[in-house]
Amino acid sequence: MSAPTPRPGILDISPYVGGLSKLDGVDRIIKLSSNEGALGPSPRAVAAFQAMAGQMHRYPDGHAVALRAAIARQFGLDAARVVCGNGSDELLQLLARCYAGPGDEVLYSRHAFIVYPIAALSAGATPVAADEVDLTASVDHLLAKVSPRTRVVFLTNPNNPTGTYLPAAEVRRLRDGLPADVLLVIDAAYAEYVERNDYSNGAELVEAGENTVMTRTFSKIYGLGGMRVGWAYCPAQVADVLNRTRGPFNVSNAGLAAAQAALEDVAFTDLARRHNSFWRAWLAERLSALGLLVVPGVANFLLVRFPYQAGRSAKEADAFLRGKGIIVRQVASYGLPDYLRITIGRDDEVRAVAGALAEFMESQA
Ligand SMILES: *Cc1c(COP(=O)(O)O)cnc(C)c1O
Repeated sequence: MSAPTPRPGILDISPYVGGLSKLDGVDRIIKLSSNEGALGPSPRAVAAFQAMAGQMHRYPDGHAVALRAAIARQFGLDAARVVCGNGSDELLQLLARCYAGPGDEVLYSRHAFIVYPIAALSAGATPVAADEVDLTASVDHLLAKVSPRTRVVFLTNPNNPTGTYLPAAEVRRLRDGLPADVLLVIDAAYAEYVERNDYSNGAELVEAGENTVMTRTFSKIYGLGGMRVGWAYCPAQVADVLNRTRGPFNVSNAGLAAAQAALEDVAFTDLARRHNSFWRAWLAERLSALGLLVVPGVANFLLVRFPYQAGRSAKEADAFLRGKGIIVRQVASYGLPDYLRITIGRDDEVRAVAGALAEFMESQA
């Protein structure tokens, strides 16, 4: 009765559930549940991390000057408008909170990353989901959901957990159709994996106006999920807002060093991309041959639909895989109960999940 109560909306949040990483009684697991880079980090990133051991007592550079300069150099961007975060998650949360509040709406597509509704509710705003077409964000459906109360639109491109993407022309059509005072946030966490010539990470839209932000992460192709480093490329005014509200020392000194080394090891990133493209195609072909529907994804995972049939369902497939020490991701919380999301791992891991699913599909129901 007299206990503190959180603001309205906070207790409507379902806490984010990450991919499992342990199974009781299994020593050696194959973890394909969190889209972590298959090859892990570059050896140069590991060396940079270790070299920081003697600096644990020192605060990091709160302005991430060296990392922002490296990012700007590598991608041809303006360093003054790059803001680093404690994972891109910190930046996504801040953008929702700084640009939306009670009475406002935050819009995204139906099967987009689940962090957006969490960020919207944390801000006291109302999350709004627009329908998709073929598990792909639809510009028409998104624009139809825009109201005078819409403040922020999140677009994951390519999307997690579907793996589908919008071509650059469609993203531009979305931007052009939104009111100028609505912030469009393009979450390009998987941009480095995409090998399609009609795709763009959205940097050109950031530079074209005052109202579009692109976010990126070191957690996926760079293999640094445990380091918590992400960044945003922003219009100057949005960079200013993020710099006022972020944690003053939001990225650790080891994280800054590891991220810069990972970024500069271009050959390793190229290898990771080639590995991913090869094994994603390989796995898609194997699973399709088993009669499973594989959503044509362009990131480092595949979304796979299982038959709606006793003995063959996604839930049973997941249980079967766990019995073999293989952890993939159930996506029922994304409204996709008939699907599993499988991260592309190392060669042996991809072969193992393909073999186990062949056994599952061929076993008697
Ligand atoms: C993994 C992922 C991120 C990255 O989050 P970090 O906080 O940078 O680790 C962001 N957006 C999407 C859609 C993701 O799947």
